[in-house]
Amino acid sequence: MTTDQAHCLILPYPVQGHINPMLQFSKRLQSKRIKITIAPTKSFLKNMKELPTSMSIEAISDGYDEGGRDQAGTFLAYATRFKEIGSDTLSQLIQKLANSGCPVNCIVYDPFLPWAVEVAKNFGLTSAAFFTQSCAVDNIYYHVHKGVIKLPPTQNDEEILIPGFSSPIEASDVPTFVINPEAERILEMLVNQFSNLDKVDWVLINSFYELEKEVIDWMSKIYPIKTIGPTIPSMYLDKRLHDDKEYGLSIFKPMTNECLNWLNHQPISSVVYVSFGSLAKLEAAQMEELACGLRNSNKNFLWVVRSTEEPKLPKNFIEELKLTSGNNKGLVVSWCPQLQVLEHESIGCFLTHCGWNSTLEAISLGVPMVAMPQWSDQPTNAKLVKDVWEIGVRAKQDEKGIVRREVIEECIKLVIEEDKGKVIRENAKKWKELARNVVDEGGSSDKNIEEFVSKLVKCKSHKK
Ligand code: UDP
Repeated sequence: MTTDQAHCLILPYPVQGHINPMLQFSKRLQSKRIKITIAPTKSFLKNMKELPTSMSIEAISDGYDEGGRDQAGTFLAYATRFKEIGSDTLSQLIQKLANSGCPVNCIVYDPFLPWAVEVAKNFGLTSAAFFTQSCAVDNIYYHVHKGVIKLPPTQNDEEILIPGFSSPIEASDVPTFVINPEAERILEMLVNQFSNLDKVDWVLINSFYELEKEVIDWMSKIYPIKTIGPTIPSMYLDKRLHDDKEYGLSIFKPMTNECLNWLNHQPISSVVYVSFGSLAKLEAAQMEELACGLRNSNKNFLWVVRSTEEPKLPKNFIEELKLTSGNNKGLVVSWCPQLQVLEHESIGCFLTHCGWNSTLEAISLGVPMVAMPQWSDQPTNAKLVKDVWEIGVRAKQDEKGIVRREVIEECIKLVIEEDKGKVIRENAKKWKELARNVVDEGGSSDKNIEEFVSKLVKCKSHKK
């Protein structure tokens, strides 16, 4: 390690879905000879079941080293203390790295932590905001920030016209929040991502140009945007980074052998893979509808039910599955290696909450989707999946907010086997090809990463 090497300090927001993309981007930078230090919070690191070994890891503090967000109680308490203690501990870390002989020259930060820009400025460092959601969703929050639109929409807002989109979007397609006292604070954080974005040197987005051309062109007129995604391990895309087979960081332990052994015994394109990501909590009534919908679809399924969600499964569901089919009909696991599952030839469709990482992973691996969005950016992602990229259907909720078993069954059959789903299945293959090309040499994301790296290196040598 020398002082000549450009050095990026990566500051993620401490949840799995935000760290994974930043980690993957870091691996790309590292392969282009940028030194990386990644700095999650102490509380996050404490709970990790796996950690990446290929890069330097340091910790900052959110002020709640024992239990992070849960320890804080309210979201407001967490955000306030994170800003205060986070700024201090980040400054100390930058100082420590400067003393160690390889000073940092750029901070790549999650805009959920906008205070990082001030810290970067105090040390004369360049800064790059790294958005982990789609550009369409970022555009919506931008317009809330500017006061052009309001969230949540009112009852009169059946359709909302948002600059950057050629057609209006329905109220049910904008990001949503559970109506509770925290909702307002969370929305505030999302909108505040733009609070000091005019001070940053780069705005990096985990998406790719071909996927969101229109809105990327529009936002590029305002901010120095570079799309650098999809940030999934290289061996699932361009295969240029031979060691990059997995994210290498996980809060849950995947049941890898169970899943792969089971999938190996299933016919090609036959299995419904079901997951709602790392955070979503389903109502017991929804779990029951889902269980029945899966059973009635007559398709075999692999369903990820996190251990905290398991008590909500219908009584004896798992036991009955085992009794009636010796586990052949369905497998319920607490966590799986999602990329390996999506890549498996037995998978026929992905019933997903449409978290942005899951969406990009399905696109990258060519798996058609049944979208069952829950909250946050997921409804907007589901809209894109269904109407813009046409790689899935959306399982609609009824007036009580529950997706019924008949709807689930119908959607699964359409996507996996019916003629009506043929275009969806073909489109999924087309997007897979595109996703691989954009990160491969000369692709749109690869070029953007190259440009970022060369400016970083130039900027470092000017300062010498
Ligand atoms: N994931 C996984 N195993 C599972 C379920 C999810 O590895 O059983 C990973 C998935 O590959 C993705 C992340 O967890 O990278 C979930 O991120 P996403 O943005 O889709 O949803 P979130 O958890 O943020 O709601």
